[in-house]
Amino acid sequence: YDRLKTHDPEIYNLLNEEETRQQDSIRLIPSENYVSMAVREATGSCMTNKYSEGYPGKRYYEGQQVTDKIENLAIERAKQVFGAEHACVQPYSGSVANVAVYTAFADPGDTILALSLPFGGHLTHGWKVSVTGKFFNAVHYTLEDDSDLIDYDQIEKLALECKPKVIVSGATAYSRHIDYARFNEIAKKVGAAHVCDMAHVAGLVAAGAHPNPVPHSDAVTTTTHKSLRGPRGALILCKEEHAAKINKAVFPGMQGGPHMHTISAIAVALREAATPEFKQYGQQVVKNAKRFAEKLVELGFDVVSGGTDNHLVLIDLRPKNILGKPLAKALDRAGIVTNYNTIPNDPAKPFNPSGIRMGTPAVTTRGFKEEQMEQIAEWINEITHNVENDEVIEKVHKQVKQLCDDFPVPANFVNPA
Ligand code: PLP
Repeated sequence: YDRLKTHDPEIYNLLNEEETRQQDSIRLIPSENYVSMAVREATGSCMTNKYSEGYPGKRYYEGQQVTDKIENLAIERAKQVFGAEHACVQPYSGSVANVAVYTAFADPGDTILALSLPFGGHLTHGWKVSVTGKFFNAVHYTLEDDSDLIDYDQIEKLALECKPKVIVSGATAYSRHIDYARFNEIAKKVGAAHVCDMAHVAGLVAAGAHPNPVPHSDAVTTTTHKSLRGPRGALILCKEEHAAKINKAVFPGMQGGPHMHTISAIAVALREAATPEFKQYGQQVVKNAKRFAEKLVELGFDVVSGGTDNHLVLIDLRPKNILGKPLAKALDRAGIVTNYNTIPNDPAKPFNPSGIRMGTPAVTTRGFKEEQMEQIAEWINEITHNVENDEVIEKVHKQVKQLCDDFPVPANFVNPA
């Protein structure tokens, strides 16, 4: 930030403060990561100066000699990494991508069927306060009572009853594999489009560490900044037959000019995602999450669904007699950053729910392995029993800082030669 130092010292200081926070804390928020310096350079590039409404070869402004080449590269790389027939790399965020896809397949007032938010769905899966719940008639499926797993028979029954135009698979807080083929089968049975929102697991899919929804979906949306380890943005992948309507739904349907600096950085992240190092990374994310969940169970925690298949671990804190918010706050004071979250059939209020949600993408990027995950589980256990004990929190905080010093965030992780 050399130029910022004199140009805007306030922002300079705050950015440095955040760099230090990210270096010195154990970041377990499952939707966060550390991107490479190469991705950061592309995000902060001259492309932030350019308008390019439209798509490659069909723009509404001149001066697109370079933008077209960059967007085409991003598209080709996205298609290759995920085995997709078509990719739109322009959505500003995962939320916008979801709204765009719904509008491509459904009209206002039509029914969409998706996972209920308190059971792990996202706001944009038709929750009432989201525009997706206001413009569409959202019907929600939940999880099986005993197992906390997706109940495909319930989804099929609901789909036959409500005849949705879109069935959404994918979640924001679900730690198990999803049977995308079954979702597609149900969707085809009722004449709906199957849309998968793979935002959380996209990096694992790219690495071959999680089933790929692309062959089983009419369209797949994803953010690019979670396990995929790119800039804050999104992609839509779809079958060629839907390409024109998906592109149209994004621009001019939802958006104006694409963020070409972000698209440049998405292209960089996708090149990284195609490397053998990234495959290893994805496998390690899953191994770390599995060991973390096992250790938490050994320590007496109630892990929702009993474990994990992906990067995410959700804990039901009720047996520990503590709510999610006070625990997340105490953990944050010890340098362990999590988020409080609802658990299936949560009796508590969403702003102070019964669970915490954690994930391994960011800590795996900085090199943590199973051994470090076991250590973190032990610290979480210690804090859980001492949320108001400043001494214990301070002691754990010192150990957390030492571990972070031992694993500095690397500038680059792969060698995309
Ligand atoms: N879809 C899922 C499953 C998510 O978890 C999220 C964000 O957490 C989104 C969509 C929204 O993405 P964004 O925050 O980029 O709008």
